[in-house]
Amino acid sequence: MADVAPRASAAPGAAATPGAAATPRASGAAATPPVRRWLPAGSAAPAARRRPGPGSLGRAVARLDRPGPHGSAAEVRTLPAALRRFLSHPRPPVLIGAVSAVAAARSARGPIRRRDVGTAAACLCAQPFVEWAVHRFLLHARPGGPLGSVGYQLAGFGHELHHRDPANLDTMFLRPREVTAGAAAAVTVAAVAPPAVGTVAVCVGLGALAYDWTHFLIHTSVRPSHRYYRRLWHGHRLHHYRNERYWLGVTSPVADIMLGTSPTGAEVPVSPTATGAARAAARAAARAAGETEEAVRRT
Ligand SMILES: [Zn+2]
Ligand SMILES: [Zn+2]
Repeated sequence: MADVAPRASAAPGAAATPGAAATPRASGAAATPPVRRWLPAGSAAPAARRRPGPGSLGRAVARLDRPGPHGSAAEVRTLPAALRRFLSHPRPPVLIGAVSAVAAARSARGPIRRRDVGTAAACLCAQPFVEWAVHRFLLHARPGGPLGSVGYQLAGFGHELHHRDPANLDTMFLRPREVTAGAAAAVTVAAVAPPAVGTVAVCVGLGALAYDWTHFLIHTSVRPSHRYYRRLWHGHRLHHYRNERYWLGVTSPVADIMLGTSPTGAEVPVSPTATGAARAAARAAARAAGETEEAVRRT
């Protein structure tokens, strides 16, 4: 999903560096001696140092996302190994913690009632369609038009990186930045809204967790033995290697079946941007450029 910051947003971050001279750390370094000399102890300067600003919160969240390389999902060959890899990667535990926090906020509002069960069942029915729409319109958003550009910045670029190298664990999971922001909103909702709305927030979190785990498992070398999982596995691989406009469901094929995006592979042309097609084109170009066969294989 969204895995690394979009280039377009990385650039503004870099451009903002000069402005960072006004951040507490940069300005504090220059201003500390005169402040200590002229202000009485315990006044504004120490208080300002104690107060965690948005910059320090951002740094704390960034520390949750340890940089890679984290290897390839293709190295994982068994289900227990997949579970260990999922839990030892820095990103999924953040999501698990976030879902737990939302669930705790909801449970503090009272016991599960019949209305919550109905709400959870409705969420379960909606999940394939929500997932389909998020994948189609947000993850595959492309620059152009205000909505496309915003979607590309939020998640499209990260998903594009995932499509370029599908098994790469550096770009596989939901990022802590989005997870913690979503969790903060969901905990607030669960704490103040009617309990049934809190139940929806929990279901959204569980849906995201199911997506992250299933998507990771599909990209491992764990061969599907169950018919349902085999269908998901096959569909997502077609999504990557044949045409990204189809097979958009990850945890369920229901939305693809009902919305006509689950044809047989042969019914759909290979898209020019499908991972396999792009790689084949790059290898053909490398061969045409006279590269050695070893270099072509590495392309
Ligand atoms: Zn994928
Ligand atoms: Zn995709």
